[in-house]
Amino acid sequence: MSNEAASVVRLSLSRAFAAISAAEEELGRIDAAAGDGDHGSAMVRGFRAATAAADTAGTAGQVLVQAGTAFADAAAGASGALIGMLLTTIGQSLPDDQIDAIAMHRALAAGLKAVQRLGKAQPGDKTMVDTLDPFIRAYGEAAASGATLVAAWRSALPAAEQGAQSTAEMISRRGRSSRLGERSRGHLDPGAVSMLYVLRAVGEALLE
Ligand code: ADP
Ligand code: MG
Repeated sequence: MSNEAASVVRLSLSRAFAAISAAEEELGRIDAAAGDGDHGSAMVRGFRAATAAADTAGTAGQVLVQAGTAFADAAAGASGALIGMLLTTIGQSLPDDQIDAIAMHRALAAGLKAVQRLGKAQPGDKTMVDTLDPFIRAYGEAAASGATLVAAWRSALPAAEQGAQSTAEMISRRGRSSRLGERSRGHLDPGAVSMLYVLRAVGEALLE
């Protein structure tokens, strides 16, 4: 069982790597509007390293911890540390046996909490949190009403998309783009968009 879950984690990471690689230029362009333009390349570096590190024996949780550590080392920058922390914390929070929808919700919530502890971003600050927070809420509601992990994940994707879209109207209060203040309005947040692509890619991997 745990071996099967570890395989799903490896597949999810490689689907995320593929999706982020395909979006590398787009993410760089979005980051260039209010940041320094490196978000696409940073995410590609992070997921390349995470995918390589995931090619190891172990439980789903152990694979995610390895992947998160590699992500943070390789991607550097704000998003590297934050997504590395997200993956590692989800990995540490997953049970070794039976990963059901509720257990995954606990792990996702712990991951978001760790990201917020590290980066101090609240919803509305124009960051990846604006995608993650509504996704995890919608996921949690579906899981609590009995949906399977796969069904809950897929049903929460529209909330992630709305969250990512909503960053266009926000003023950045965290990270590099916060220096622009009011002028950061009118642009999507790159980290919110890449997080949406990752969540979608995992949703695809879960169907396989
Ligand atoms: P850098 O800002 O170091 O160039 P990236 O360009 O790779 O790093 O990532 C920028 C993204 O990181 C932002 O779009 C935002 O989503 C996310 N981010 C930056 N700072 C924070 C923070 N304190 N909390 C949450 N997310 C953040
Ligand atoms: Mg950047």
